[in-house]
Amino acid sequence: MQSTKLTTRILIGLIAGIVVGLLLGSNPGIANNYIKPFGTLFLRMIRMIIVPLVLASLVVGAASMGDVKKLGRIGGKTIAYYLITTAIAVIIGLILGNLIDPGVGLSIPPGTTVEAAKAPNVVDTLLNIIPDNPLNALVAGNMLQIIAFALFLGVGVTLVGDKGKPFLSFFDSMAEVMYKITAVVMSYAPIGVFALITPVVAVNGPSVLLPLAKVIIAVYLGCFLHAALVYSSLVKAFAKMNPLTFFKGALPATTVAFSTCSSAGTLPVTIKSTRDNLGVSESISSFVLPLGATVNMDGTALYQGVCALFVAQLYGLELTLAQQLTIVLTATLASIGTAGVPGAGFIMLTMVLTSVGLPLEGSALIAGIDRVLDMARTSINVTGDISAAVVIAATEKELNVPRETDRAVTA
Ligand code: ASP
Repeated sequence: MQSTKLTTRILIGLIAGIVVGLLLGSNPGIANNYIKPFGTLFLRMIRMIIVPLVLASLVVGAASMGDVKKLGRIGGKTIAYYLITTAIAVIIGLILGNLIDPGVGLSIPPGTTVEAAKAPNVVDTLLNIIPDNPLNALVAGNMLQIIAFALFLGVGVTLVGDKGKPFLSFFDSMAEVMYKITAVVMSYAPIGVFALITPVVAVNGPSVLLPLAKVIIAVYLGCFLHAALVYSSLVKAFAKMNPLTFFKGALPATTVAFSTCSSAGTLPVTIKSTRDNLGVSESISSFVLPLGATVNMDGTALYQGVCALFVAQLYGLELTLAQQLTIVLTATLASIGTAGVPGAGFIMLTMVLTSVGLPLEGSALIAGIDRVLDMARTSINVTGDISAAVVIAATEKELNVPRETDRAVTA
């Protein structure tokens, strides 16, 4: 009951933000100076919770799995799910790019230059997952390192047995407190979402968006199709969940993602929606979701597929099938390396363009509308993480009917 009310209030905030943003379009200063700070306040309050929440709930989650084998099994399933759905997302992006032809008939402004992002060294990236100083990882908010450290702590607690119990109950209690703080912060979400979206709409008015309407349509349509086809069938097939129940349960996280453009920043809300509204257990959600917010970016991959074709069309270049397959591979990898912060996918786009020899300058046109594309792709990034949690919880028999008491907390 209560959570539905909050979801409705957040949606009203979002729609009101779009309307007010359009009205203030000729005077974005008002939106930026007087409305945006209320959104920034919301964002800072959620970000404040991320590190302690992830650490505490993952220690408890890993310890509650009871054995290392189970942890490995869930890890394997999670990574397979993330890779496969991301590759499908790029393919959908490429198909729509071929059908909609977003770049045909446009040309790039003369004199634009864009730098390529360097492809990261794979060995270093993998080694870097283990922090050499866990406190540094916590202070810097390095999510993969925090996940690794928390998993080690959880395994350590399990192996120690009785003597580890006080340590575990400390983290258990810390996780509960952080969770409660998330609920308190969420009561401010309708205003927060309103204040975040108003300046974006005011600054990116129709005049900025119209010339590139086809790119926007391709990315939004692709995101919609990916959710409607892929996530719907997966939650239906594995969790026997009605897709509408799924999307409704995920909605608080999706709307916060849409307005903040940051899957990392949305994480506490993602965890809360997944547990309270969709009934995923603590151990699965606290492992699958932080990992997803860091490495699983279906929306970003789809966007990179569309944009690669856009740039090719801008220059009148045909992409061969082999080149398009290279894009599937690099966009999947690039999306893993994309940080869950606003605009990160655009930087990684340059890597995808380089992989098939497309001129980077073509992406300059995208830069102007990137924020609007980021809203759609971040929403899908987060929805993809939630679908993984639901599916994996179902296969582990850890998907429960939501408890009434939990729901009441959401408001
Ligand atoms: N903003 C996206 C996210 O946080 C990443 C991207 O720019 O594609 O999920």
